[in-house]
Amino acid sequence: MGLDIEKIRGLFPVLHQEVHGKPLVYFDNAATTQKPQAVLDALTNYYQHDNSNIHRGAHALADRATRYFEETREAIQHFINAREAAEVIFTKGTTEGINLVASTFRRKFVEKGDEIIISTLEHHSNIVPWQMLCEEKGAILKVIPINEAGEILFEEFEKLLSPKTKLVSIVHASNALGTINPVKQVIDAAHAVGAKVLLDGAQSSSHLNIDVQELDCDFFAFSAHKLYGPTGLGCLYGKREVFETMPPYQGGGEMIKEVTFEKTTYNEIPFKFEAGTPNIGDVIAFKAAIDFINELGKDAIRAHEDELLSYANEQLSQIKGFLPVGTAKEKVSVLSFNINAMHPYDVGMMLDANGIAVRTGHHCTQPLMKRLGLEGTVRASFSVYNSKSEIDKLAEGLSRIARIKNK
Ligand code: PMP
Repeated sequence: MGLDIEKIRGLFPVLHQEVHGKPLVYFDNAATTQKPQAVLDALTNYYQHDNSNIHRGAHALADRATRYFEETREAIQHFINAREAAEVIFTKGTTEGINLVASTFRRKFVEKGDEIIISTLEHHSNIVPWQMLCEEKGAILKVIPINEAGEILFEEFEKLLSPKTKLVSIVHASNALGTINPVKQVIDAAHAVGAKVLLDGAQSSSHLNIDVQELDCDFFAFSAHKLYGPTGLGCLYGKREVFETMPPYQGGGEMIKEVTFEKTTYNEIPFKFEAGTPNIGDVIAFKAAIDFINELGKDAIRAHEDELLSYANEQLSQIKGFLPVGTAKEKVSVLSFNINAMHPYDVGMMLDANGIAVRTGHHCTQPLMKRLGLEGTVRASFSVYNSKSEIDKLAEGLSRIARIKNK
């Protein structure tokens, strides 16, 4: 049985509004997803009833807040199938997770002449931290090329690998094109030369089943706000044995075992990487988002999103001047395109006038856009609460826009 989309839509208050006099069609899910009422309630409930600083507290509220906070960690552990909850660190998001690894790794494991590998598909947050690391350490950044469809060239990747490769950091699913990378093969090949692997799971975590043990990745970074959860919150998974060899990220409260003016000893993971008071309320609310996904089931969510993607492809392909960008065989529900000779921003503004929210521009992937010879694209990205009738509206809107252009 398929999902009851109308019922699901009923759980998301923000969807029920008009924009410029038209019912909102929200197709900007790769940027951030909307939040179900349960997440909003969990956040309010925490501040109304449980607000307290966590760990170390000797009173009932601190006890409850700590318990709920750690329950989210356990929910995430199961969500990605980590061996233990201690392998899950709370961060500000994917960006901070990648920066944490880049910053701690560079201090201990990277020497002059060592190599880091990324791909052409990367978001800026999986490019710039490595460039900073390379600049500081005299290391070398290598980039896996792609084909015209937006797929990495695996044989070229294999040629880049060597004993000098310290880390491969690659996007699991591209935010700009939707391409799903063959990450299991990437991980196995990287491990064969002794390199560690970080997966940028910002997009994959909401669409694909994630099993970090089966993947055998060393790190997996993702953001709560793309998973129906709060903004400014994310998780970094790391294998215990790898985390334990890494120095702390930031110094402060919570990450210590004992402090004297002469010397500090550090706490166990995950606390070693969680200095300061964390984003307690949002962490607690995030569990409601994970529960929402688990209740629907990732397979059912993916089946619905795949159906929307292929329906959108069919409908939009009939529009004169429709130019799809990124035609990989394996994709999440991201449809990037251009309308012949039109600036993506103009297309986006015209769609907005019809109540349709899409994203336009380089999608924080300027090197990818350069490789494709484009200034940017229009991106419609679909989520579990979207419907085929909304795609019909997008197709109608785009047909009108293309007709104006072709007059
Ligand atoms: N990587 C990818 C593939 C993304 O789509 C994003 C968000 N657009 C990020 C990293 C960064 O995520 P955040 O801004 O939540 O840190």
